[in-house]
Amino acid sequence: MATLQKSTARLTSLLLFASVVACNDAAPTRAVISKSSSSKPSVSDGDATGVKTEPEDTLGDKGSGNSDDDEDKANETDNGGTKPKDMDKPTTDKPSTGTPKPDVGTPDTSMPMNPEKFDVSLVSVDVKNDKNGIPLKGDNVFINLSLKNVGGKAGTLKVTPYLTSKRFTDFTNVKLPTVDIALKGAEAKVAPIKIENFFQDLGGSKKEYALNRGEYSLAFEIEGEGIAKKRIADLKGKDFLIDKSNVVFTAVYWHQSYFDKVKYTGGVQKWMEETFSRKGEINDGNRTTKSFAKGFDEMMGIRTVFKTFEGFRLDRNKDFSGVGILNQVEDYSKERLGLKDRFKGTDCNSFTHKDNHGFDMQIGLSNDGFGGLAWVCGNTQASGIFDADTSKGRAQMILIHETGHNFGAPHCDPIQGFIMCSGEKHANYLRDGSFVWHQVSIDAMKKREADRINLVGGVGGLSLAAMPDGNAANEEIAVCNGEHM
Ligand SMILES: [Zn+2]
Repeated sequence: MATLQKSTARLTSLLLFASVVACNDAAPTRAVISKSSSSKPSVSDGDATGVKTEPEDTLGDKGSGNSDDDEDKANETDNGGTKPKDMDKPTTDKPSTGTPKPDVGTPDTSMPMNPEKFDVSLVSVDVKNDKNGIPLKGDNVFINLSLKNVGGKAGTLKVTPYLTSKRFTDFTNVKLPTVDIALKGAEAKVAPIKIENFFQDLGGSKKEYALNRGEYSLAFEIEGEGIAKKRIADLKGKDFLIDKSNVVFTAVYWHQSYFDKVKYTGGVQKWMEETFSRKGEINDGNRTTKSFAKGFDEMMGIRTVFKTFEGFRLDRNKDFSGVGILNQVEDYSKERLGLKDRFKGTDCNSFTHKDNHGFDMQIGLSNDGFGGLAWVCGNTQASGIFDADTSKGRAQMILIHETGHNFGAPHCDPIQGFIMCSGEKHANYLRDGSFVWHQVSIDAMKKREADRINLVGGVGGLSLAAMPDGNAANEEIAVCNGEHM
């Protein structure tokens, strides 16, 4: 594959196969992918109906294989008392410290307070966003913990939240950072504890997670002066919902060599944000019909949010075919995110895979000169840099081109001069660096989204009120090595 790099002026043919797009004019090879071609999810597998009628399935995984889901749910009941299905049962405000526990604001006068003691009761918990509403995916999310010092002595309580997802597997009892909460004697207060969108399990596993939409449950560990460490798994309000939004949680694996090659010093986070907001336009073949000053995100109506992981490199001693490269990215995710298996996709009609720890999409940045590779409709891509053209515009174009594949757009050949087919040739790109989309690519992405939305009965269109969750199908691969991009 290394021999395929030629000057961009020599762009020539492009061969389109039924399941593979190979952009290699030297020796087009038919890469066979089709990891999941035999198991398409059926419309009646619970996705369509569950959304409207069955509360516990509303936010469940939309991937194929409901029997897997059931198995996973069964497994997840063993998580320290936080069972997935007790959302609708009223939880009583049981004393958890062995002392009578009044609600905040209603002091219990029946019990004399011990002025010499620091003794705290957790009263309830309420998870909200920073506007005090139901948190949407990507919001600033706060665990508002109501607690009361039922003793007369001031002190500091150490509180450690543990988070369990009811939607994602291997997302059980994830330890969040410990916070110190100071309380005066007899003080009752509500302490907001922020949950980040991305977090590592501090319980020692080093697994990485994203706070995707779905149902969650909280447990707490508390400890303080005179208060022995104890776990509280039945606190009132422990179950909460992260509702859908247009946010796409994207894991980015990178290595400094990529930025050295493109001579960019702004850092990976800025690079990704710049790329996904780089100005673009839609063209019907004759003229620009719509412009997007904020680029791909604005055009798609999404907000791509990046969690970056340093250290990724492709290994040329491993399988370095198109599929091999994408598999290397997927293998890396297993190691880096601590997944039980490599990062998974399902198909064009599915949502974020339940085994991916809440991440929607992933990108590997490589300094290898293969250009880019992506699963069409998939959630994995690799973006390399051409030896012939290491410009910033070209490198960012590859990233967005591959993302276009992930969102369901194939190459638009034989049309030439648009971002999904030899985009660097377009006059508007040459003039001001705009990424120019042909309408056929937009239609392909819209169709993909409409198909998926029809399955789940939500709203459709590229405005994406219900869009990703990124996602996931490995039925096709676009091999954009060599000449194409
Ligand atoms: Zn391509």
